[in-house]
Amino acid sequence: MSVPYEFDIAIIGGGITGLSAAFHLQKLGFSRLCLFSKEADHSTTAHAAGFISGGMADNFTRLSHPRGIATAKQIWDFCDHAYDSLVEYLQKAGIPHQNGERLRWMISEAEVAEAQKAVQQLHAEGLAASWQATSPSTSGVSSPRLLGTQNEGQRATAVSLPALLHQLRADTRVTTFGEAQSFQSTGDGIEVTHAGGKVRAEFLICAQHLSIADLLPNLAEALVPFADQWSEYQLHDQSKVLPWKPGTVFSWQHSHIWGVVTGPGTLRIGGGRYLRAMAGIEAKVASYEQKIMRHLAEAWNGLWPELAIEPSGTGFGIRDCRPCDELPLIGPMFGEGRVLVATGYMGQGLSLGFTAGRCLAELIADQPTKLPRLLWPERLRSLPADKGEES
Ligand SMILES: Cc1cc2nc3c(=O)[nH]c(=O)nc-3n(C[C@H](O)[C@H](O)[C@H](O)COP(=O)(O)OP(=O)(O)OC[C@H]3O[C@@H](n4cnc5c(N)ncnc54)[C@H](O)[C@@H]3O)c2cc1C
Repeated sequence: MSVPYEFDIAIIGGGITGLSAAFHLQKLGFSRLCLFSKEADHSTTAHAAGFISGGMADNFTRLSHPRGIATAKQIWDFCDHAYDSLVEYLQKAGIPHQNGERLRWMISEAEVAEAQKAVQQLHAEGLAASWQATSPSTSGVSSPRLLGTQNEGQRATAVSLPALLHQLRADTRVTTFGEAQSFQSTGDGIEVTHAGGKVRAEFLICAQHLSIADLLPNLAEALVPFADQWSEYQLHDQSKVLPWKPGTVFSWQHSHIWGVVTGPGTLRIGGGRYLRAMAGIEAKVASYEQKIMRHLAEAWNGLWPELAIEPSGTGFGIRDCRPCDELPLIGPMFGEGRVLVATGYMGQGLSLGFTAGRCLAELIADQPTKLPRLLWPERLRSLPADKGEES
C-alpha cells in the first residue's frame, strides 16, 4: 500500500502535546492526520513524575506581582481548565489515577508572607485556597520547620503515565513517520521533509518540545531549557502511613522542591535543581544525580522527621523549558502562516500539554477556545506583522 502524501494536519512530536492535538483534531472531524515522532518512548512526557494539579506550579503572587491581578487570574483559570480537562479525560477513559489535595508548605517567613498574600488574592478572585498556620495537629504529625500550609483543595492527581500515553495512542488514528527534518510553506499548505520523503498538509503543529527551535529558529532564544529530576522514596518505617491521600501534590521552598504521594507509604519527590551548575539552566543534556536524590530525602527528613524516607527505586533526570517571559507558548507561530506551536509549560506540561493540543485543534477548526491570546507566540515578536500576514 502506498504511503499517503496529502494530509489535513501534520503534527511533529509524539509526547502529550502532539498526541492530544491528534486526539482533539480527530474529535473535531479531521481524519487525515500524520504524526512525526522521534524516540516516542524517550519523550519528556514518558519520564515525567506523573502528577497534575490545578492553578500554576508557581504561587499566584508570582504572576500577580509582575503582571497584575487580572492577567494572573486569566492564566490561573486557564491552568485550572487544563487540569479539569485532563481529569475528565482520565475519568472517561478509565485511566488509573488518584485525587488528593494541592498543598504548599511554608518553611520561611518570606514564604509565609507570600502565601498569605496569595491566599488573600485567590479568595478575592473567587479561587479556592486556604491558609493554616502550623499547629502540632495540622496533619497528625509535627514538623520542626513547617510554619504553615497553603491548601488549594482537592485539585491534584497522580496518574499512571504509561496508561495515559497508551490510551491516547489507542484513541488516535494517525499515519506515523519518523523524525521531521524541515518544512516549507507552499502558499496554500506546508510541505514537511522527513527521512522517508515528503508530505503536504494544510496546517503544521509543532509539538516537539525543546527541539521546536530547530525548525523555528525565531523561538531559539525564547525557550530556556533547564534540567531537573525526580526520584521514588518510601517511608523508612514501613509500619507507618503518610497522613496525606495518594494523589496529594505538595511543594515547598517556593516550589523548588515538589512531589506527589503515590501510595500509603510511597512518594515521588523532585526538584533541587539549585544544586546543579547555574541551577540547571541552559542544560544541554538531562542527567540523574545521586547527590540531588540524597539531598531531596534529607530535605524531606528535615521537614518531616517523624516520616523519614529512603530511596526506594529510581527516577529520571529530564529537561524542560521555561520561556524567557515565564508564560507557556501556545498558538499560531508569528511569521509562519499555517504553523502552530505549543511548548514552555514550566513543569506542568501534562495538563497544559493536553489542553494546548485541544486549543490548537480548536483554533484550526475555527471553534471557540479557552486559550488566552496572551499565550500566543506573537508576544515574542519584535517587529509588527507584515501586511497581509495572519496574526
Ligand atoms: C524532572 C521533571 C519532572 C516533570 N514531571 C511532571 C509532572 O509530573 N507533571 C507535569 O505536568 N509535568 C511534568 N514535567 C513537565 C512535562 O514533563 C513536560 O512539560 C511535558 O512532558 C512536555 O510534553 P511535550 O509533548 O510538549 O514534549 P515531549 O513529551 O518531549 O514530546 C516531544 C516529542 O517530540 C519528539 N521530537 C523532537 N524533535 C522531533 C522531530 N524533528 N521530529 C519528530 N519528533 C521530534 C521528541 O523526541 C519527543 O518524543 C516535568 C518536568 C521535569 C523536568
